Amino acid sequence: MRVLKTVAAMQLACKEIRAVTRSLGFVPTMGALHEGHLSLVRRARAECDSVVASIFVNPLQFGPTEDFDQYPRTFEADCAVLEGEGVEILFAPSVGEMYPSGAVTTVTVAGVGDRLDGASRPGHFTGVATVVAKLLHVVSADRAYFGKKDAAQLAVLRTMVRDLNFPVELVGCGIVRDGDGLALSSRNRYLSAVDRGRALVLRRVLLDMMWRISGGTWASDALYAAGLEILASEPHVRLDYLAIVDADTLLPVKEAKPGTLVAIAAYVGTTRLIDNFVVGSGDEL
Ligand code: AMP
Repeated sequence: MRVLKTVAAMQLACKEIRAVTRSLGFVPTMGALHEGHLSLVRRARAECDSVVASIFVNPLQFGPTEDFDQYPRTFEADCAVLEGEGVEILFAPSVGEMYPSGAVTTVTVAGVGDRLDGASRPGHFTGVATVVAKLLHVVSADRAYFGKKDAAQLAVLRTMVRDLNFPVELVGCGIVRDGDGLALSSRNRYLSAVDRGRALVLRRVLLDMMWRISGGTWASDALYAAGLEILASEPHVRLDYLAIVDADTLLPVKEAKPGTLVAIAAYVGTTRLIDNFVVGSGDEL
């Protein structure tokens, strides 16, 4: 696996790959890789002739009081894992390479980008959209792979790709969970053993709402009430949002229906975790 650190080198290498293969898949990450990330790489490998990945902890998507400095960085181990998964090139630029002094252009997805995580973390999705736009230009992949765990992110990026005519297909990949059902996240490693147990309430909330929906309760108000009651059983977990929304626009719906996104974000201690399912999609919790 080649590790490239400059935009120019990565752009050239991807151009060379595209000249000799039919399809190029791209998996962008912030590193601290786990099985969730690897599921994206494996899907890309199964669907594309060549696969490239990136590791870049993007300062633009972290708020001033968020965990940019503490974000786990496990570069050597990540390289070994990606190489083992058959990734051809890893793009690992510095912050200065991605945002040279004088860079002033950003991508803001109005509306969608201000909802869910975009409401709780102002500027977050402008940071995400900007870095993904840049990465898609550098790599010019046929397909780019993203996790459905970040459902709001996927909605924002699909909107950006549609509106700005990016010639790429975004592929959403299912959430990979630990044995007890907790969605894998690079941030799970911040959790103490006690908080790790408390974090399971996110899944219990969603599971309860999923059961109620399959039992015929469609009204969002009733579903919210049921979810909040489950959440109250774990007073150490502080809710950020519980949302029943259209999966594309992220606007609230009065009644859930197939395709509706049910999403939760909550703080366990100081760690913010997210999880979700899409009604009727076969998503497992
Ligand atoms: P991150 O490194 O957190 O920016 O994540 C990189 C990509 O991996 C994003 O598209 C995430 O949605 C995806 N991802 C993270 N956790 C999971 C998971 N548990 N299951 C599936 N995809 C995931």
